[in-house]
Amino acid sequence: MVSRSELFRECQAALEAAGNPDARFDMMCIFQDCLGDRNPLFSPLEAVPTDAEALIRAMTERRISGEPLQYILGEWEFYGYPFKVGAGVLIPRPDTETLVDNVIQLCRGNGLTAPKIADLCAGSGCIAVTLKKELPLAEVSAVELSQEALPYLRQNVRLNEADVGIVAGDVLAESTAAALSGLDIVVSNPPYLTAQEMNDLQAEVRREPEMALDGGGDGLGFYRRLTPLWKRSLKSGGFICYEFGMGQHDKVGNILAENGFVNIKFTRDLGGIIRTVTAQKSEENNG
Ligand code: GLN
Repeated sequence: MVSRSELFRECQAALEAAGNPDARFDMMCIFQDCLGDRNPLFSPLEAVPTDAEALIRAMTERRISGEPLQYILGEWEFYGYPFKVGAGVLIPRPDTETLVDNVIQLCRGNGLTAPKIADLCAGSGCIAVTLKKELPLAEVSAVELSQEALPYLRQNVRLNEADVGIVAGDVLAESTAAALSGLDIVVSNPPYLTAQEMNDLQAEVRREPEMALDGGGDGLGFYRRLTPLWKRSLKSGGFICYEFGMGQHDKVGNILAENGFVNIKFTRDLGGIIRTVTAQKSEENNG
């Protein structure tokens, strides 16, 4: 029998030797998950049951092979809510909490107590589900095309008991946009990485779905196509809210302005990067 602290030290050292800079954090998450204990080193001399030991060793091996920690754990927190994740779905990032905050602030600031919201490229559902939890009277739809991501989206809607309408469809198709009309808010974290960034992806991010990351060429294809298409589904005075990549703010802002949006405002994420934009469909602009 191996003690908790012995096994912890051994696995942490193996992760460090493999070049993992967060070995202690990762091992803590794996121990918490396998032992069902928030503070697994509180009793360092306690023996680790053999089945838990086997699981911990297997998870450590997966981590050493470069699989993202979030996929190994199978669940990750976003905005305080749990989300099931695994191969085929983008891992929720803290940056995206800024986008959720933007939508909540817009609703509060504009008296939208029961807003009609569509989340495009919904992935795990972290945006749509969180918005439904935080704005219980909202009518939230989540649009996702990927057959790999959709099961996670369904699971996360159930897990969080969030009444979100799931639309399996292509956000770039006229028919998808036409089926969702009279929206107060369109929110999206579309794929936005450039061809260059896709080439230079970190090994771990390569394990995530290309479809959720690859914005094609300059990374702005989705903003160019979503903006004119979904403008028609927005009420006049409604809002569009996007996340984008570092350095893309001017170009995304221009796309919104060219499409007649007004009150274009940017927000920085917790890392200080200009990360999101909100823009309003002007009352005169019904095209
Ligand atoms: N933020 C993600 C990354 O840089 C990209 C997500 C996206 O393309 N929407 O890994």
